[in-house]
Amino acid sequence: MPIRYDNRKYYDARWRKLRLLVIEAAGNVCERCGKPHRLLNVAHLQHDPADQRFLAVLCPSCHSRNDTPQRIAMTRRTRAQKRGQLWLTDEIRLAPFPVRTWPLWLRQMDLF
Ligand SMILES: [Zn+2]
Repeated sequence: MPIRYDNRKYYDARWRKLRLLVIEAAGNVCERCGKPHRLLNVAHLQHDPADQRFLAVLCPSCHSRNDTPQRIAMTRRTRAQKRGQLWLTDEIRLAPFPVRTWPLWLRQMDLF
């Protein structure tokens, strides 16, 4: 899956160093299926490239399986929005995205 343009800044030299350390710490095997693979990925388990706390070393197959529910949900949401079928409030619409990407007025809103 190509990296979205606005997320490319998170995949710099520091990320590449961290990635190699994480893969080495995992023993060069996929943490999900336990198989060694030539091309291991470091996956963001929360789907937020800015958040480097929840990482896992996954083979491409396990990485794809990990990201599929999120990808399907985002595709459905985008399609519904384009068709004018999206009736979600801003809080629910933006829930899958990191809070730092929300509009400022929504972040400052007192919900309780
Ligand atoms: Zn795997």
